[in-house]
Amino acid sequence: MIERADVIVVGAGVQGASLAFHLAQRGARVLVLERDTVASGATGRSSGFVRMHYDLESESRLAWASFPYFREWADRVGAGDCGFVPTGFVHVVPAQLADALRANVEMQQRIGIDSRVVSPAEIERLVPGALTEDIAVGAYEAASGYADPAGTAAGFLTAAGRLGARFIRDCRVESVLVEGGVVVGVATSRGRFAAPAVVDVAGAWAAELAGTVGVDLPVQAWRHATAYFGLPAGREPDFPIVIDELNQVYFRPEGREMMLVGLEIGNEVGGSPDRPLAGLRPADLEQMVARVCARVPWMANGTLRTAHGGQDGITPDQRAILGRAGPDGFFVACGFSGTGFKTAPAIGACLAELILDGRATTVDIAGYSLDRFAAGRPLVGEHPYGYLWR
Ligand SMILES: Cc1cc2nc3c(=O)[nH]c(=O)nc-3n(C[C@H](O)[C@H](O)[C@H](O)COP(=O)(O)OP(=O)(O)OC[C@H]3O[C@@H](n4cnc5c(N)ncnc54)[C@H](O)[C@@H]3O)c2cc1C
Repeated sequence: MIERADVIVVGAGVQGASLAFHLAQRGARVLVLERDTVASGATGRSSGFVRMHYDLESESRLAWASFPYFREWADRVGAGDCGFVPTGFVHVVPAQLADALRANVEMQQRIGIDSRVVSPAEIERLVPGALTEDIAVGAYEAASGYADPAGTAAGFLTAAGRLGARFIRDCRVESVLVEGGVVVGVATSRGRFAAPAVVDVAGAWAAELAGTVGVDLPVQAWRHATAYFGLPAGREPDFPIVIDELNQVYFRPEGREMMLVGLEIGNEVGGSPDRPLAGLRPADLEQMVARVCARVPWMANGTLRTAHGGQDGITPDQRAILGRAGPDGFFVACGFSGTGFKTAPAIGACLAELILDGRATTVDIAGYSLDRFAAGRPLVGEHPYGYLWR
C-alpha cells in the first residue's frame, strides 16, 4: 500500500525542517523526503548569521519574526539546540550608502528591532583594533549573533518527529505526480508516496524538481566558500559579526579561538548542483586575508585552519521564491540566495499557514511569489545597497 501524508516536504535542510515542524505543530501528517541526510545541502555549510539588517522591509520582518526561536529555542522548539551565540552585529558602509543605511535602520526600528546607527569612533570600540577611516557609518544590532545551522535543522526535524512527522533519508524524489491538474504525490528512489500537497524545498536542486511538473524556476546553483582562521595568540573572540560593504567581506568569531570569513565577490553562479563542491581557491584565500586585514590588521598573525565550499539556489533578484506554483497542491520555498538560514523559522510558519489556511499571516510573503519575475516586479530594497553577491 502506498504511504499517504497530508503534505510531502522535499528536502531536509533548515527550511524543510522548519516547515515540517510548523505543519506538524498544526496537526498535519507530514512526510519529509531527503535524498541525502539532514543539513547535507546549504544548511550544513552555512555561516549561520542571525541578524535583522536588510534593505528590504519584508526580509527584516521575516528575520525579526524568526529571532525569538533562536533566543528561546528550548521553549519554542524543545528538541536539540540551535547553538545561538549573541555576539552583536555590525554592518559598515561607505559614504554613498550612508543615507540608505540610516533609512534602513529607521525602518528596522519602526518594526521594533534593536538597531542603531553607529559612528566610526563607536565601531572602533565595538570591533577592537579595527581601522575605520574609510567607513562613513554603520548599523549595530547588540542582540544579534550566530547559530549552528545543522543543529537548528536537526532540532526542528526531531521536534517535528515528536509531533508525528516522518523523515526518510536516502530517498531522492524523482518527480512530482499530477493527475487532472492536481498534485497526488511523488515518485522516488524508494517508491511512490501519496499526498495532495508537495513542497519543493530542494535548495540548489529546486529547479530540477519543479521542472517535473512544468514549472520553470529561475533558480541557479550559487557556490560560496568560507574559511576558518585561528585567532592570533592572546586574541579573544571579543568582536561582533561584521559585514563590511567596503571590502566586500564578512567575518565573525567561531567558538573561542577562530574567525570565520566569507567573500561577497567572485562566487560562482550556474552549472549542475551535482558536480563536486570545490574547496577554497588560492586566489580567494589571498583576497580573504587581504580584505580582513584591511579592516582588522591584527589578523595578519592569524592561521588558516580549514575551509569548505557550499551551495544554495540563487534567483535573479537574490531573494527567495515562496508560495504556490504550477498545478494545484504544488508549493515552492527555494532560491534563498545565500541568506535563508536566519529566516527559516518564520518562513516555515508562513508556509504552514499558506498550505493549511490559504494565507500566510506571520509575515506577508505575497511579494515572494514566482510570478514576480514574469511580471517584471523583482524584489528590490526600499533603500537599496545593490546586490549582496557580486
Ligand atoms: C557557505 C554558505 C554560507 C551561508 N551563510 C548564511 C548565513 O550566514 N546566514 C543565512 O541566513 N544564510 C546563510 N546561507 C544561506 C543558507 O544556508 C541557505 O539559504 C539555507 O540553508 C537554505 O536551506 P534549504 O533548506 O532551503 O536548503 P538546503 O540546506 O540546501 O536543503 C535542501 C535539501 O534538499 C535535498 N534535496 C535536493 N533535491 C532533492 C530531491 N530531488 N529529493 C530529495 N531531497 C532533495 C538536498 O539534499 C538538501 O539536503 C549560507 C549559505 C552558504 C552555502
